[in-house]
Amino acid sequence: MKCVIMKDIGGADCLEVREAPMPEPKPDEALIKVHAAGICYHDLLDRSGKLHGPKAGNILGHEVSGEVVELGKQAKGLQIGQQVVLFHRMFCGHCRYCLGGRQDLCKMGGILGSNRPGGYAEYVCVPSWNAIPLPQGLSPEAAALAVCPIGTSVRAVISVADVRPGDTVLVTGASGGLGLHQIQVAKSRGANVIAITSSSAKENIIRSVGADEVIVSPDLKFSGDVWSLTAKQGVQAVLENVVSATFGESLRCLAPNGIAVVLGNTEMRKIEIDPGLIIGRRLRIEGSGNPTLQDVRRSLHLLDTGQVRPVIDRIVPFTSAAEAHAILEQRSVSGRIVMKGW
Ligand SMILES: [Zn+2]
Ligand SMILES: [Zn+2]
Repeated sequence: MKCVIMKDIGGADCLEVREAPMPEPKPDEALIKVHAAGICYHDLLDRSGKLHGPKAGNILGHEVSGEVVELGKQAKGLQIGQQVVLFHRMFCGHCRYCLGGRQDLCKMGGILGSNRPGGYAEYVCVPSWNAIPLPQGLSPEAAALAVCPIGTSVRAVISVADVRPGDTVLVTGASGGLGLHQIQVAKSRGANVIAITSSSAKENIIRSVGADEVIVSPDLKFSGDVWSLTAKQGVQAVLENVVSATFGESLRCLAPNGIAVVLGNTEMRKIEIDPGLIIGRRLRIEGSGNPTLQDVRRSLHLLDTGQVRPVIDRIVPFTSAAEAHAILEQRSVSGRIVMKGW
């Protein structure tokens, strides 16, 4: 089969199209013919060695849709020919977290494309319970984004922040792959959305996905504006995709008992917080990451009913993986680059 190998840790030129042996499913696994794969910022961090992820020789890619073409003898719940999205996190199914529906906390670990071969390939194997059937008619490129970034956004907005009709939600880093989908998920819950971006060039796309207000704030001092926009009431939830440069301002924007959901860690540096503010306003701070299976089902429903539209910057062939990584590195995209076809 054809695949994109990460021949070394380093720049985009480490990605190379090669022939590799066809993967063979273990007894409990399904062999998936890949139809589309999204390129996540996480792939760039993995490729450049910024995370303790893949080793040289691995195949990246955790945002994968495709079709079941072969099943191991013990694989259950799937049929040949079924269209699926791959749940990228491996989970055991019987630990206290899995039994509580929190597959995102399972200690078994293992992420598709990080420490097992991923979806930058014609074929990939996963445990059969990691392949989730799709609603009929959903395009492969839309389906590829149903787990990450859209499932991740559902996790943050619905499962963690519990956004309700009439709430006001603040989204930082609003033009990123997470932000553009979080805005749509928050709108599907009947919330008002205030979006923060540092660049006026991104304002149009942020408005096009449904943000009610966009604050262009190059210096990231936005709490005064948020305070006026909310008639000095503050917001019920902040979805923090930036954190290092914005967290102090975000906390100042929160209404009493508001929640700051921490998703981003782009600069990977420590921040200072004001305990007085947290105590005084009874603020909550909670981390959010991979979706659960329940979050993915909700994500598929939102896609199927058109309440969330996948924001795709462009579709390129898999052979353009290195070029696409370079483009994403320069941050000159709005939404995902999705690979499809060879
Ligand atoms: Zn991703
Ligand atoms: Zn588990």
